[in-house]
This record gives sequence, structure tokens and C-alpha cells, in this order.
Amino acid sequence: MVVGVGTMGAAACYHLAGRGARVLGLERFDIPNAMGSAAGFSRMIRLAYFEHPDYVPLLRRSYQLWDELQAELGLEIIKITGGVYLGPPGAEVLEGSLSSVRQHDLPHEWLDAAEAARRFPQFKIPDDFRCLHDHQAGLVLPERAVAGYAELALRRGAELHGQEPVLSWEPAGDGFIVRTPRANYAAAKLLFCGGAWTSKLVADLGVRLTVTRQPMAWVWPKKPALFELGAMPVWIMEHRDGSNHYGFPMLPGSPGFKVASHVRGAPADADQLDRAPREADEQVVRRVLQNHIPEANGPLLSMRICMYTNSPDHQFIVDRHPRHSNVTIACGFSGHGFKFASALGQVLAELTLDGRSSLPIEFLGLSRFGVKQ
Ligand SMILES: Cc1cc2nc3c(=O)[nH]c(=O)nc-3n(C[C@H](O)[C@H](O)[C@H](O)COP(=O)(O)OP(=O)(O)OC[C@H]3O[C@@H](n4cnc5c(N)ncnc54)[C@H](O)[C@@H]3O)c2cc1C
Repeated sequence: MVVGVGTMGAAACYHLAGRGARVLGLERFDIPNAMGSAAGFSRMIRLAYFEHPDYVPLLRRSYQLWDELQAELGLEIIKITGGVYLGPPGAEVLEGSLSSVRQHDLPHEWLDAAEAARRFPQFKIPDDFRCLHDHQAGLVLPERAVAGYAELALRRGAELHGQEPVLSWEPAGDGFIVRTPRANYAAAKLLFCGGAWTSKLVADLGVRLTVTRQPMAWVWPKKPALFELGAMPVWIMEHRDGSNHYGFPMLPGSPGFKVASHVRGAPADADQLDRAPREADEQVVRRVLQNHIPEANGPLLSMRICMYTNSPDHQFIVDRHPRHSNVTIACGFSGHGFKFASALGQVLAELTLDGRSSLPIEFLGLSRFGVKQ
């Protein structure tokens, strides 16, 4: 039984059903929905991964499996645009990306500010900034990816129920009883993919997860042609105070140039999230547009509020439950998990069915927080 059919849950249902397992996926909202962490038309995918070089093998598998998903669906799911990471000397986004590049021998270019400004005229770049150009970066279409995995999971024989929240679960005999408003279900194995609700579902994980409120904005640029898909890469700009903004080229079918901040926002409770955009939310993106992307600094089209579920070290948690070997947990994606969903779907199916994964995920285990299995 898979609890939460969002990003990770939908991918896991697909892989579990592909392995021939009898799967029930329960989702409290719609399948797909915009209430969790997966909405907003685009999610960045990068190979020169600044967060940690150990993610690179998982990323390679993710790229492969996104290609397989789009082939199976006959729909575009991933677009490679290249990515530029900009920042002052010593910026985490540069140093971290370089260490992935060096450790895994990744194709890239290292540019000074003048060369970066010549190639990417969208940006006003301070003279001392540097730029790493990651040729493999691009974006994944999140709504399509989650809906696509859910559809293919159903076609592979999984049973998925939307609008059916899991209220509680407990061990019973060799398995578990899971209660919802509609029924009590018996499950041999459980996989929790509850995103921002994880702490409410699995109270005894031994790790504190912090949910934060994360606004995204779309504006209509003064010179739209500069910001079209094909005219520019995905981008991250780290500022001198260590904060950063990121964004995407404009996508057909979702009007506007998307900009957001990756700084952790205000702590939130997933059930009481303030989903109304505030003027202060717009000011956060206005600042980067005014200072660094002036030709995009046009009227606001829309804002949406999303949630990060942060682990203490901002790296993912993908492991067995500390006390129940037949319970698998995927959480704490800390604002950078979407791009991995294709590979993590495989990992979660393997952990659930085999007790171990063939992909290198040891660094994502609970033991790094001193939690004993
Ligand atoms: C603004 C923003 C920008 C981001 N940008 C990027 C990016 O560029 N690149 C990237 O890789 N990642 C990005 N991320 C992160 C990425 O989107 C998340 O890491 C990922 O979506 C988390 O997946 P999940 O499955 O944990 O959560 P979700 O996709 O939210 O799925 C959890 C599901 O569990 C369901 N659920 C919860 N409780 C219950 C219950 N009791 N019963 C049944 N169902 C339940 C929820 O309704 C939800 O559908 C971004 C996130 C945000 C918010």
C-alpha cells in the first residue's frame, strides 16, 4: 500500500505494479493535485549537482527513466535547455557544482562574467561573478509526469484511490491495518510518500521535518523573445548573502516567465498553509528581476504557494522505518526532489519488495541522524 500518490508515490506505484505487485495507492486529494509540492508547470533537473556529488548516479538513472516515461506515454516530459549557475567567488552553487563535475567528469563550461553576459544577455551579471554552464540541465513537466505515472500504474494493474485520506495505521499480525473514512485495509507492506504531511502520518521517525511556505511567480517580460524556450537556459543565481533565485524559460501553454527563491520560507503546517499570495512574496522576486534580469521585470501574471518538506541537513530521507522493516519512507525532499522521482520510484519499489535497492542510496538513510534500525 502506497500512502500519498503525489510525486514519489505515483512513480513508486508505477514501478511496483511493473514488478507485478498488488498495489493500492491512497491519496487524500485528487490524483494529480496542486495541494502538495508538485504543482507549477516546471521543475529543474541538473546533472552538475551542487547539493552533493553522491546524487549524480541517481540523476543519471533519473534522466534515463524520464526518457522511458515520455516514450511510454508518447508525451514530452523532460526538456533539455542547459543550465547556468551564477554567483560570486566561493558561492555554494558554483563550488558544489564543480565538485560534482570533478568527481564525475561531467561536461560543463566555466565562464567569467563578461563571457556569461555575452552568451546569456538576459542577465545583468556583477563583474566578479562566475558562471558554470551545465549542458545537461533542463526541466521536467511535473503535472504531466505525476499524471503520467499514475495513468501507467493503473494500466499496469495498480488500484489508485483519490479523495481517500489515510487516517491511521498500525501493525496487525504480519502486516498492517490502514484506516480511511471509507474502509479499513490490510496491507503486507507500507510505503509512505506523504510529502508535507509525513510527520502527521509517521510520528516516530526520529527526525524533525520542517515544512516551509514557498511562493513562485510568473511575470510577462518587457522583451518576451529573450525569455522563450530555446532562447535561454534554466538558471540559478546565488547572491552575496548566500540566498538564491532560480527560474525557467517561458513554456508554451503556461504563460509567463517563472521566478522563485530557493531560500526556505516561513515555517508552515501543511493543513494550515497560507495559500494566498502576499505583496511581500512578490517583492522577493521583484528584487532579482530589477537587479539582474531587468528585461523580464514586467507585470505579474500569477503567484502560487507551494511547500518544501525540509530534513535537518536538506538531503532526502529514503529508508526503511526504524522499527518496522515492512514500512518504507520517502520524505524530506527539501525543495529539490522532483527531478529524482523517476529513479526514486524504482528505488522505493525495490526497498518495498526486496528490502534493498540496486541504486546507491546509502547516503540518504536515517542512520546519518543517529537513528538506529
Ligand atoms: C516551489 C517549489 C519549487 C520546486 N522546484 C523544484 C525543482 O526545480 N526541481 C526539483 O527537483 N524539485 C523541486 N521542488 C521539490 C519537489 O517538487 C518536491 O521535492 C517533490 O514534489 C516532493 O514529492 P513528494 O512525493 O514528497 O510530495 P508530494 O508530491 O506533495 O506528494 C505527497 C502526497 O501525499 C499526499 N498525502 C499526504 N497525506 C496523506 C494522507 N494522510 N493520505 C493520503 N494521501 C496523503 C498529498 O496529498 C500529496 O499528494 C520544488 C518544490 C516547490 C514547493
